[in-house]
Amino acid sequence: MTSSHSTVIGGGISGLATAWWLRKQGITVSLFEQESTVGGTMKTIRKNGWLIETGPNSALETSPLCKTLFEDVGIADELVYANPAGNNRYILRGGKLHPLPMSPGLFFRSRLWSLRGKLRLLKEPFVGKATKEESIAEFVERRLGREFLDYAINPFVAGIFAGAPESLSVRAAFPKLYALEEKYGGLIRGQIGGARERKKRGEVAKDRARMFSFKNGMQTLPDGIAAALGTNIRTSTKVERIEYDRKEKLYTLHFSVNGSPGTHRSQSVIFAVPAAVAAGLISPFDNVLSQNINNIVYPPVTEVFVGYKTDQVRCPLDGFGFLIPEKEQRQILGAIWSSTLFDGRVPEGCVALTVFIGGSRQPEYALRNDVELLQTVNKELNDILNIDGDPVFTQITRWQMAIPQYHLGHLQIVQLMEKFEERYPGVFLSGNYRDGISVGDCIIQSDKMSRRAADFLASQKL
Ligand SMILES: Cc1cc2nc3c(=O)[nH]c(=O)nc-3n(C[C@H](O)[C@H](O)[C@H](O)COP(=O)(O)OP(=O)(O)OC[C@H]3O[C@@H](n4cnc5c(N)ncnc54)[C@H](O)[C@@H]3O)c2cc1C
Repeated sequence: MTSSHSTVIGGGISGLATAWWLRKQGITVSLFEQESTVGGTMKTIRKNGWLIETGPNSALETSPLCKTLFEDVGIADELVYANPAGNNRYILRGGKLHPLPMSPGLFFRSRLWSLRGKLRLLKEPFVGKATKEESIAEFVERRLGREFLDYAINPFVAGIFAGAPESLSVRAAFPKLYALEEKYGGLIRGQIGGARERKKRGEVAKDRARMFSFKNGMQTLPDGIAAALGTNIRTSTKVERIEYDRKEKLYTLHFSVNGSPGTHRSQSVIFAVPAAVAAGLISPFDNVLSQNINNIVYPPVTEVFVGYKTDQVRCPLDGFGFLIPEKEQRQILGAIWSSTLFDGRVPEGCVALTVFIGGSRQPEYALRNDVELLQTVNKELNDILNIDGDPVFTQITRWQMAIPQYHLGHLQIVQLMEKFEERYPGVFLSGNYRDGISVGDCIIQSDKMSRRAADFLASQKL
């Protein structure tokens, strides 16, 4: 039996960052990861001159904690920011790509929305507050009107959560948007007041934050943290069961390494695994919470990376990419123009795109076989981007359970988690199903979790 003051289960970005912040505070930590490599959804593949991200293609530097983490673990030199062209984003309407306007002047000239839709926004400051928990669709339609929901928010929710605005809770999934109404009485007024507060906290709004990756792709981040943690990390180690000795105030983790069993003891355990795994591990402790967490929906998403010769693509790939509103009735959610965002990711004379399929909108499409997926992608891209012929390179990544959906009622589940943490001192539930799904949110949450664990351990007079 081994032991450490704290133990983190799961070696995705949430678990790794938590383990790092704990160690930085001088606390002994062990991290258990069931796979042979760390990173969870964050993995990069290099093949024949192409750099393929199988999970997140980039992340936003929304907090100074990101930079601190990169400097701490020695990967700050590898950091790259997206090319300025990446600020341009497109939305499909009527079969054509429309740039998302980035200034009030461009907004009024844009053909993405009708004049009526634009004038509807003028009512926004006079709309009252919500009287019940609302979905994103209800919130946006009430404040900004139907057209803005259909041709701005619907595609963005698909782009961020691969989700449906009708099901997601605005308060849980977009807490900062919700807070603008709660605190300032509206989105436009809140934009002004919120900017002042972010400045005070040293945070940056998501629409202003710089988009980053690393020279060799996103996997540099988990690999860098793992290298800095060294022997504290145990890969190919699956945690199967946990026991709590209330008298000794110790948790015993039962795990298996390549089929061989082992045990580990700890005063504090931080779960940084997907919801369904956490549900299984905590079910002997709290069956109600376990069922609630297990019910968090993760729709499937398939990423299809396609490479072309530059002269095959007649549309200028001068942006981050494009998103597709549901009303357009297409079979893909959108695409990132990967080779425009970061240099050095394709062979000479080539371009690359990453296409997203499935999500809550069309989960069954994500489950199509490879031939059908490529046919779908070819047809949609040839049509939307005026591409000539088939891709010269393809790579398909399937996520059967991709991104947790913060449905209506999600915050009640978070409250149950908080009560559980009170009943089992030293246990903390982390991961992307709790407090934000983006890489940046996971880093911020990990910092909070590590400080809560450190405070708990200090209270135990180690
Ligand atoms: C397709 C896709 C695209 C995305 N794009 C972006 C993007 O562009 N930008 C962005 O900011 N975010 C993006 N995200 C979201 C972001 O990548 C994730 O929310 C984040 O990486 C999740 O990290 P995590 O550590 O919480 O979970 P995970 O990465 O899921 O890590 C959990 C870890 O726990 C391990 N584990 C599970 N069970 C056990 C067990 N019993 N014992 C030990 N270990 C176990 C798993 O193997 C895994 O390594 C994307 C997500 C997906 C799926």
